Amino acid sequence: MAFSVANNRLTSTDGGVDQVETSKMGGVLNARFLVIHYTAGASFDSDLKSLAKDNETKASVHLLIGRDGKIAQIVPFNRVAWHAGKSQWGEISGLNSHSIGIELSNYGVLTKLANGKFVTWFGKEVPDGEVMEAVHERGGPLRGWHTYPQKQLETLISVAHALQARFRFLDILGHDDISWARKSDPGPAFPMNSVRSRILGRHD
Ligand SMILES: [Zn+2]
Repeated sequence: MAFSVANNRLTSTDGGVDQVETSKMGGVLNARFLVIHYTAGASFDSDLKSLAKDNETKASVHLLIGRDGKIAQIVPFNRVAWHAGKSQWGEISGLNSHSIGIELSNYGVLTKLANGKFVTWFGKEVPDGEVMEAVHERGGPLRGWHTYPQKQLETLISVAHALQARFRFLDILGHDDISWARKSDPGPAFPMNSVRSRILGRHD
């Protein structure tokens, strides 16, 4: 699928972007960074509801990508979305005012049961093939994390290429990079180095 940006909205050749309205946005955005998140939600539909509906959380985001590659745009790219919260990168604090946010539908941190199975924070058992055990890069215990399907990652990379062509980001960051002590997303199951090098052409 080929994506492009027109009128601060993501478009695709086959119309595969669901455009959603929200009132949860701030002022004019000058996007210099791309920030990646996981939702820690139960499904694409519940993620979309909590990110777009006024009466749900105070959180919003520019784009939501489902596990099957489905995409919704909630906030236009020229307006601030509320995805980063208290955050810092180098000299810059409050990354909402400097970044486009992408949320990936994903259960997040999983809990290991005595029988070796993993469950979500809301008690749903996760198939073994969707679990990765890893220590977060800031340290802490070995934990289970929900993996990202290839379809979701390929969609993210295609979208990020289109955004990079338009906005020329200085860097691609995880929420856990900019809210280091407070946030764990997108976590160790997300291939950040590979995504960075594919979009920015870097290898660090
Ligand atoms: Zn986040």
